[in-house]
Amino acid sequence: MNRYDDKPAHECGVFGIINHPEAARLTYLGLYALQHRGQESAGIVSSDGDRHYRHKGMGLVADVFHEAELNRLAGSAAVGHVRYSTTGSSSLSNAQPIAGDLTMGPVAVAHNGNLVNALELREDLLRQGSVFSSTSDTEVLLHLIASTFADTLEDALGAAMRRVSGAYSMAVLYRERLFGIRDPRGFRPFCIGRFRDSWILSSETCALDIIDAEYVRDVEPGEIVELSSAGIKSYRFAERQPLAQCIFEYIYFAKPDSLIYGHPVYAVRKRIGEQLALESPVDADMVIPIPDSSNVAALGYSKASGLPYEIGIIRNHYVGRTFIEPQQTIRDFGAKIKHNPLPGLLEGKRLVVVDDSIVRGTTTRKIVKMLRRAGAREIHLRISSPMVMNPCFYGIDIPTRTELIAANSTLEEIRRHLRVDTLHFLSIEGLRKAAGGVPGGFCDACFSGVYPVKFAKVGKDLLEESARQPSLLESLSRMEAR
Ligand code: SF4
Repeated sequence: MNRYDDKPAHECGVFGIINHPEAARLTYLGLYALQHRGQESAGIVSSDGDRHYRHKGMGLVADVFHEAELNRLAGSAAVGHVRYSTTGSSSLSNAQPIAGDLTMGPVAVAHNGNLVNALELREDLLRQGSVFSSTSDTEVLLHLIASTFADTLEDALGAAMRRVSGAYSMAVLYRERLFGIRDPRGFRPFCIGRFRDSWILSSETCALDIIDAEYVRDVEPGEIVELSSAGIKSYRFAERQPLAQCIFEYIYFAKPDSLIYGHPVYAVRKRIGEQLALESPVDADMVIPIPDSSNVAALGYSKASGLPYEIGIIRNHYVGRTFIEPQQTIRDFGAKIKHNPLPGLLEGKRLVVVDDSIVRGTTTRKIVKMLRRAGAREIHLRISSPMVMNPCFYGIDIPTRTELIAANSTLEEIRRHLRVDTLHFLSIEGLRKAAGGVPGGFCDACFSGVYPVKFAKVGKDLLEESARQPSLLESLSRMEAR
C-alpha cells in the first residue's frame, strides 16, 4: 500500500541489459523510468564475466546511485531492481537484486511478483540446511536454483520454477548472460528489448524508450529466455495455462507511455474512461481528473460524454514520500500539499471527477472537501475501476478486507462517506470490455474475488497479518475452497 497516496502499490520494477560497455549506467536509466513501480530501495548488480559488482540502498534511484557507485559497477552486463515491499519487510537485506555464489559461479536475481508458496519452500530449504539472510521470497528463489544441482543454469532455472507457484517476472544475471522468466499465468508484465547488439529485459516498455531501445516482444508466460551476445534462446518450463495477466496494470500501475502485454496502456486506459461515461452519464459542466493517474481515463470520459475536459486540480510533483506536517495548525496538510484545486475554475460548477480507484477512501474524501471549498456546486465521482473488495496475493500491496471501504460498505454508504452527489464504479464487465482487443485472460481477483492460483500457505507477513485480521483468514479460506 502506498501509505501516502491511499492507493494500491506496485511491488517492483526489473531491468537488465547485456552486451553493452555501459551496462550499469543504462540500467540506472532504466530504473529511473521504472521508479513508479517501487520507491523503497534500488539496486544494481553488474558482471564482467568473472566477477559480480553490486550496490544497493534504501530510497529512490537518484538517492542510491551517484557517479562513484556507477563507476564501480564494471562489466558489460547488469541487472537492476526498484522495490516496494510486501513479502519481506522494508530493509536493506531485502533490497534486490539478491546475489550469491553457486557452484557454477555468481548469480544475481531480481524479481517482480509474489510467490504464494514461498513459506513452504523456505521451510523445506531450511530443513535441507539453507541459511537465509533476508525475509524476501527472492532469496528463496536463489536457494531453490542452488539446490537443484543441475549442470547448466537453464536446467536449474527450469527445475526451480517448476516448484514455485504464484506471480513472478524475474531476471537472472549469470556471467554475461541474462535470463528472463515469467510465471505460467503471466501475472506480471515483462518485455524484451534490443538496442543495437545489446539485449534488454524490462518490466515496462517505457524503460526501453528511455535508452532508445526497440520493443521486441514479451517474455511469454511459462518461458525462460536466455539473452547473450549470441542472441535469444527460448526454453519452456511449463505447459501453456489460462492467462491471468493483472488487469490493474491498465487501470493504474503501468505508465501510460508503456505497452503492457503488447498493447498501449494509454489506449486501453482511455477506453476505460469511455466505458465509464457510457455506464454512468451525468449532466455536468466539466470533467476533471484527480491527477496524474486518472488523467487518461478522464480524457476518455470527456470524449465519450462530450463534456469539456479541464485540469481542475494541480498536482505538486515535488512532494517526497515523507514530509513534516505542522503540529498544531492545519490538519490534512498531506492531501493539500499534493493536490491544489485551481482557483476560480471550479466556482459554482457541476463537476464529474474521475479517480482510478478507491482503497480506504481517506485521500478521496479530503480531495472532495477541497473541491467543495473551491466552490464546486455538484460533485459526481466516477471511478475507473470496479470496487476493490479483496487483497492481492500476486505482488500488489492492497490492504486486508477490514480496511477496504468497498468490502465493508454499500455504494450509498461510500457515497455519503465521501460526501459526493453521485458515485459510480466501473463494472467488472465494463472493465473486461474496455480491455477487449488485448488477447488472453486477466486476473481481476481484487475486484471479483476469483483467485486464479490457489495456495495452501502464503508469505510470513500475510500469515502474521491474518492472525490479526480474521477477515483475511476468511478470505484465504474462501480461496482454498475454490
Ligand atoms: S488481484 Fe488485482 S492487483 Fe493482484 S494481480 Fe489480480 S488484478 Fe492485479
